[in-house]
Amino acid sequence: MAHCKRIPAFPLSQGEALLAETAGRLGTDEVLTPETLDALFSSMASVRREIHANPEPGFEEYKTQALLKKLLIEFAGIPESAIRACATTGLVADIKGTGPPSPTPGPVKVVALRADMDALRMTEGKNGLPYRSGNEGVAHLCGHDGHMASLIGAATLLQRRAARLPSNCSVRLLFQPAEEGPGGAQPMIDEGCLEGVDEVYGYHNWPSFDYGRMAVCPGPIMAHPTSFKIVITGKGGHGSQPHMAVDPVLTAAHVIVALQSVVSRNVHSREQAVLSVTMVHGGEVSNVIPDTVTLEGTIRDLNAEVYELVVARTRAIVAGTCAAYGASATCSFDSLYPVLVNHTESAELVATLGRKLLGGADKVTGEGLPIMGGEDFAYFLQHRPGCFFFLGAKEPELRGWSQTGAAGQRSNCMCHNTAFDFNDNIAPLAAVFFVRLVEERTGAALFTDAELPMPLLTLPEGEAVEGGAAGPIVLPMAKKARK
Ligand SMILES: [Zn+2]
Ligand SMILES: [Zn+2]
Repeated sequence: MAHCKRIPAFPLSQGEALLAETAGRLGTDEVLTPETLDALFSSMASVRREIHANPEPGFEEYKTQALLKKLLIEFAGIPESAIRACATTGLVADIKGTGPPSPTPGPVKVVALRADMDALRMTEGKNGLPYRSGNEGVAHLCGHDGHMASLIGAATLLQRRAARLPSNCSVRLLFQPAEEGPGGAQPMIDEGCLEGVDEVYGYHNWPSFDYGRMAVCPGPIMAHPTSFKIVITGKGGHGSQPHMAVDPVLTAAHVIVALQSVVSRNVHSREQAVLSVTMVHGGEVSNVIPDTVTLEGTIRDLNAEVYELVVARTRAIVAGTCAAYGASATCSFDSLYPVLVNHTESAELVATLGRKLLGGADKVTGEGLPIMGGEDFAYFLQHRPGCFFFLGAKEPELRGWSQTGAAGQRSNCMCHNTAFDFNDNIAPLAAVFFVRLVEERTGAALFTDAELPMPLLTLPEGEAVEGGAAGPIVLPMAKKARK
């Protein structure tokens, strides 16, 4: 059933025409052919690479927003009147059902699906990708480019079958800016993006989990991240006369070591927390003891009590250690997002659907969770029931829609690594999963199993896949961006 025969992602010169052709092939209510589905998935890979080549950081996603809007109108076929900007650079789009009531109505009328839009302020490695970031110092190294392509794919499939979605049901697409900070979810909620929404779902690719595997659990699935800053003040002096100084470097070294006892000795062993000192700044010249040393780092927790304990112990250790060495210090803590807590019923239905679609109980697991990263999807789940899940991305070799011709080799490295690149084989899985989730919740029958199989690649290990060199499609606004 798997679609292993692919149309390669579009070459640079033909992007727009092929996108239009694919949009035409999708038809309105014709039976989907495997060829048409392949064209859709190839289009999604091309869209993903186009976005990858033109990354924008949080709340600066103007070109991304314009591209997504264009794709929603021209490729997915959503009327412009159903699309609105939200939180400056975000987008909200509604796919409204126009069909008769379902004979087997589901529990929910309006399902929201979310994709994050922003890139990181990082420099992408010299990876030889034909679609490497064209905006130096900004790069899609978390895979949000792939999350957007996934949602465009789901939107295209859903809109094409809007006539089979009951007229009292709809799907709301949430394209959210600034996930990496300062956070676009709360501003979108403030602007009403969840009004009328019953449930909300989203996913993240995860390169340390195997391709074809879903990771999900009820309850806390991602952490509450807090950055901290400790400024240790001593008394500077000549490097050869330490007895005349109060050395903040030595004090800082003892503070760093002592802080390692907070999680290991103070937090209960059934709880989870992380405390990492990630920055040490002090001194200018090798023969001078500086006045101050600044330590910065991150704390992760899954509940407020643990957080309060970690903060209290950090303050006590800093104060006590500094007192012992004659120095003084200030500590400040800055929390970003709350804990991402999956609703039990939603998480269980996502897991059940995952097992059904991915081919077995062993394909869905809570192993490796919670992940101690932060995610502002947490805010959506503070307002509505729903679930956030992970799709594994690890594959030994490039194949299928992820193949990029001669350039590169899948690195499987973690998000936020300079060599990271979204695995294009994930987006079709996510798109089909979202469609089936909407069917499950609304009770609508949009596609038969034969028409829309789960597009899992089943090529034997090591088998070569034919396919041309793939690159980003070039749309008019991208040409402008590259000048
Ligand atoms: Zn990230
Ligand atoms: Zn991310």
